[in-house]
Amino acid sequence: MLLILPLGISYLLRTDGIATDKYIDDRRNYIEQVLDTIDSSFSAYEQLIYTTVKITEELAPDKAEHEAALKLAFSSSRSALVYGIGIWYEPYSFDEKTERFGPYIHHIDSNNNKEEITYFWNTPEYNYQNREWYKTSLAAKEGEISVSPPFFDSDYTYITFGIPFSKEGKKTGVVTVDIVLPQLQGYLSDYNFSDFSGVYLTTKDNSIVFSKTDASNAAIEKHAMEGEQPGLFTDRTAVYDENEITSFFEGIGQKPEILTSETENGVFRIHAFLDRKAIFLNIIFRHSLQYLIFFLFWTSVLYLIIFNSSYLKRNYENRLLNTENERLTEEIFKRKEAESRLTFQAYYDEVSGLQNLNSFMEKEEALQPGNDNRSLIQVSLNNMKELSLILSSTIIDETLLAFTTRLKSVCPLETRLYRARGFSFFVVYDDQKTGSSQKLAEKLQNEFRFALRLGSRDIRLRAKIGLVYFKDAESLEQVLAMSQSAIAGLDVADSGRVGLFDHSVQEQKARHVVLDAAMSQPGFISELYMLYQYIVKTEDRSPAGFEALMRWKSSVLGSTVSPAEFIPMAEENGLIIGLGWFAIEEVLKAISGPLKNSGLFVTVNVSPIQFIELDFPDKLDNLLNQYAVDKNRLKLEITESSAAAAIESFWQIIDELIRRGYRLAIDDFGTGESSFHRLYSMAFDTLKIDRSFVTGLNLDERNQEICRSLMNIGKTMGSQIVAEGVETEEEHRVLREIGIKYSQGYLYARPQPLSETEFGKS
Ligand code: C2E
Ligand code: CA
Ligand code: CA
Repeated sequence: MLLILPLGISYLLRTDGIATDKYIDDRRNYIEQVLDTIDSSFSAYEQLIYTTVKITEELAPDKAEHEAALKLAFSSSRSALVYGIGIWYEPYSFDEKTERFGPYIHHIDSNNNKEEITYFWNTPEYNYQNREWYKTSLAAKEGEISVSPPFFDSDYTYITFGIPFSKEGKKTGVVTVDIVLPQLQGYLSDYNFSDFSGVYLTTKDNSIVFSKTDASNAAIEKHAMEGEQPGLFTDRTAVYDENEITSFFEGIGQKPEILTSETENGVFRIHAFLDRKAIFLNIIFRHSLQYLIFFLFWTSVLYLIIFNSSYLKRNYENRLLNTENERLTEEIFKRKEAESRLTFQAYYDEVSGLQNLNSFMEKEEALQPGNDNRSLIQVSLNNMKELSLILSSTIIDETLLAFTTRLKSVCPLETRLYRARGFSFFVVYDDQKTGSSQKLAEKLQNEFRFALRLGSRDIRLRAKIGLVYFKDAESLEQVLAMSQSAIAGLDVADSGRVGLFDHSVQEQKARHVVLDAAMSQPGFISELYMLYQYIVKTEDRSPAGFEALMRWKSSVLGSTVSPAEFIPMAEENGLIIGLGWFAIEEVLKAISGPLKNSGLFVTVNVSPIQFIELDFPDKLDNLLNQYAVDKNRLKLEITESSAAAAIESFWQIIDELIRRGYRLAIDDFGTGESSFHRLYSMAFDTLKIDRSFVTGLNLDERNQEICRSLMNIGKTMGSQIVAEGVETEEEHRVLREIGIKYSQGYLYARPQPLSETEFGKS
């Protein structure tokens, strides 16, 4: 659209350019017309000259005869332009001995038509002013007209036309006709040259015989005055110099267009200067209304378009901004939502909606040892891990929610509830009246002995409940540790029956110190020995192998200490490494010794902490070589506990051991905080079902189901299944029915020294 203006204007200008050209052409024609009229008057003089030449050629050298002939010619010319006619004899070629005369006739009073004839004596001494030019004219061919430059006389300026004549075949003289320039000028003045910057009438030799400049232009006027005063030929001749005049006009800002044309006989030339620019502007000016209308039209259209497009643009931008804004709002909303979700996740448990461990640590922070009424009741759902193996996560979540609801309903309002790690819950109670928190713990214990009803099914939770007092601890971490050990101290088999609350932490602490000191004695390892418990085939109770179990007969304590007590301590104080190798070496001795030909395997318990030794597999290889024991005869029992997760090399060494052909058993399967998906990917030789699933198996359908699915898992993994802690015939029967291949428990045998087994006797 913007282009329309320049296009339109240039169209108009082009049109006006053409109009300018047309105008100039028009002026050229005008100049031609002027020349035509000059031409037509000239043809009259030419006629006159030729006639005069004819007469003169016949004339005798007689004054009167010449006079009569000139009078006749002069009167017939009738032209105001003609000033006079003369006959000039060339003295030397005419007759040197005779005095020759040249008659000349001219007007003396043009108004009264009075003429006068003058005689000029053509003696060599007579030096008439135009003699040189006459000679030129005489030199011309017969019948050819010569034109003189303008001559200046005292009273007039003129140009002379000359034509030679002959007598008796000999060139004798020249007939001349003088044309008075002011009269020619007056003649030309009748023409209107007002639109020309300047008009110059010149003769062939570029003498200006007439000029007219644009009097309205002061600069031109000045030029005319300063210059050769064209048009006023008084005492000298102006010479037409086109370049000079052109540059003069250019100098005053004109764009000269020069129209040059000459008369037919070539005697006169007109050089007319037009100012193309002025003409052009003039035409434009005359068309200014047209331009104005066009411009107004264009601007209004352009305005409309710009207004419209900017309106559309603004509209579009607005829309963009709006959507952008909406998106931003949405984004911010999402972020806020995510943030609050994060905060929620950071401080709340999504499933139960209870506050989590982070909240616990922050809220229960302030601790005043010895002067703190708070107590912590920990409820740990023991069998949730196993349940999550067989139940869908949705059902597990529903179960937890149902449990939470039940927990809330049992606990007084002033208690604070948290979901800790895994399936542990904390109830913090500001126990103002002594014993009330113990009562609450017992109440909870009772509550969760019964199954939770979830839709159509009953789910039986196995809750371990611990109780600790904040005043007994130095830090919040210690409160948690105490609670953990209170729970760990619970016998799984007992948990269903009695609530066990560890309020003898101080005593435990004391024992811990004593045991630790006893273990640090140099003779500690020598006080250790192994017992062997049969693992049998469930089908016929025939021996399949042994599990080696450690005992410590402490001389310092004067008693036998349970491995359940000293193994965790050994894991803490690092003695587990030496202790572990002792057990393994003992077992290798047994296999390569009394059990050499039994064909039975022996399993030995290995703590994950032992894998701190990265060369564990190499050392084991060496030891096996040393006792020449086949890898098939040995099994390593590993409990996948939280301790394992802390050992970076744990899975790496497990992998390496399997790769080297060792048989690995997962101990206490179903109780640990196992990353089950990881276990599935490992080629474990054996899974040992924890005693908690076996105890009361005959009475508990849920556990039967768990055993069944564990057996299926074993099948899938290509692992053998061993049921631990079989104490009753009923349990045995059910295990047999289910098809669990191997069993271990007091029902078959107690852990005993190898010497007391059938292999010790031999
Ligand atoms: P564990 O590996 O699960 O061993 C089985 C435990 O159950 C043994 O307890 C065993 O005496 C006991 N038991 C066997 N049959 C029955 C039964 O029918 N009823 C009941 N109530 N208990 C039964 P123990 O010997 O006191 O060992 C406790 C734990 O100490 C072991 O549990 C094992 O984790 C650890 N442990 C024992 N010896 C070693 C060892 O040489 N090295 C390592 N790292 N840990 C060991
Ligand atoms: Ca074991
Ligand atoms: Ca076990």
